[in-house]
Amino acid sequence: PKPFETTPAVKMKSYACQRRTPLKHHNSFLTDALEILAQNAEFSENEGRSVAFRRSASVLKALPHVVRSMGDLKDLPCLGEHSLRVIKEILEDGTSSEVESTRQSEQFQAMKALTDVFGVGVRTADRWFREGLRSPLDLIPTGQKLNHAQQAGVKYYNDLNTPVTKKEAMVISDIVEKAVKAVLPGAIITLTGGFRRGKELGHDVDFLITHPEEGAEERLMPKIVNWLDNQGLLLYQKTTRNSYLESKDGPARPASNMDRFERCFSIFKLEQLESDTHTETSSYNSGRAAGTEERHAGSTWRAVRVDLVVSPYSQFAFATLGWTGSKLFERELRRWAGQEKGMSLSSHALYDSKQQRYLRANSEEEIFAHLGLEYIPPSERNA
Ligand code: ATP
Ligand code: MN
Ligand code: MN
Repeated sequence: PKPFETTPAVKMKSYACQRRTPLKHHNSFLTDALEILAQNAEFSENEGRSVAFRRSASVLKALPHVVRSMGDLKDLPCLGEHSLRVIKEILEDGTSSEVESTRQSEQFQAMKALTDVFGVGVRTADRWFREGLRSPLDLIPTGQKLNHAQQAGVKYYNDLNTPVTKKEAMVISDIVEKAVKAVLPGAIITLTGGFRRGKELGHDVDFLITHPEEGAEERLMPKIVNWLDNQGLLLYQKTTRNSYLESKDGPARPASNMDRFERCFSIFKLEQLESDTHTETSSYNSGRAAGTEERHAGSTWRAVRVDLVVSPYSQFAFATLGWTGSKLFERELRRWAGQEKGMSLSSHALYDSKQQRYLRANSEEEIFAHLGLEYIPPSERNA
């Protein structure tokens, strides 16, 4: 660039799926704050408000520079009045009073602690909060009725809230690969979710499984689960059958964002990595007493959440795109498809309403092309 030239204003597209959003960006001091407000809105089941804050945060993540003044936000899309007010306060005072009081509030902290239990959603957490519960530890003396998922969630609370490292994800990849290959040779296993986007840490590890021969993947999950269970690798699992074919409301229009693939939400028993076992200060061993299950020091394994999904080969590209995230990126893709293209996108298919037909795709690139979008690689879908 020539000297004395002013930085051209960033031309920011308004849908997150039109932009590149790297994992590491320059404005965490603002996006963390906005995401607290987004999460708080989720806790009160105000989805519109939550998405508005998430969209604002996402725009700031895509900026190639630090925001230093309100002038830097000129011409940026998606920044509502409320978000701008919060940003202004942080730029001027270093913190936002609304964000800080939310963060400190008993309700926010309790809702966070309770929804951090695997199997506990906002509805349940809110009911418990109104009954006076404040943390997972309160669940035991009050004798709350817990389903199997929640029982596992309480039992492994500490482990499941200790971030999964990339190294651990790789070890689990090897295990899943071995299991799948043993029960269906020729199957293809893809790491999806946050780790595919380049994250160093995750709340779980996500996998998508398929086989080039259409139909060979049917009823595969119970076989995989059996194999894993026989090896003593599963602490919990819930397998759901594929309901795509049986559904009456049309393939590309599932009732919610939930897809209909054969899936398994599980908790793996992961032998601890050599380097982590003997360190007394390891985060795995510290803080155990605060957990709901006491485990003797020197335990050689830990619990890790793993999601397994099986897709037919013909839907694999859609499933890969749908399970790579981020959640906001996915939401924006579907909104773009519907509002700008008259199409309906799911993790199964892409339907073109004008042409009244399904558009096939063998790769994510083809799906972006069908949608009239520039291809965005996984590492830049961290919206
Ligand atoms: P984290 O590190 O927190 O796990 P993540 O991006 O991997 O981050 P996940 O909750 O594991 O988050 O979700 C991964 C992807 O799978 C997201 O894109 C999400 O849209 C998709 N997904 C998760 N649950 C479902 C579901 N029940 N039905 C359809 N898609 C889902
Ligand atoms: Mn994940
Ligand atoms: Mn997941």
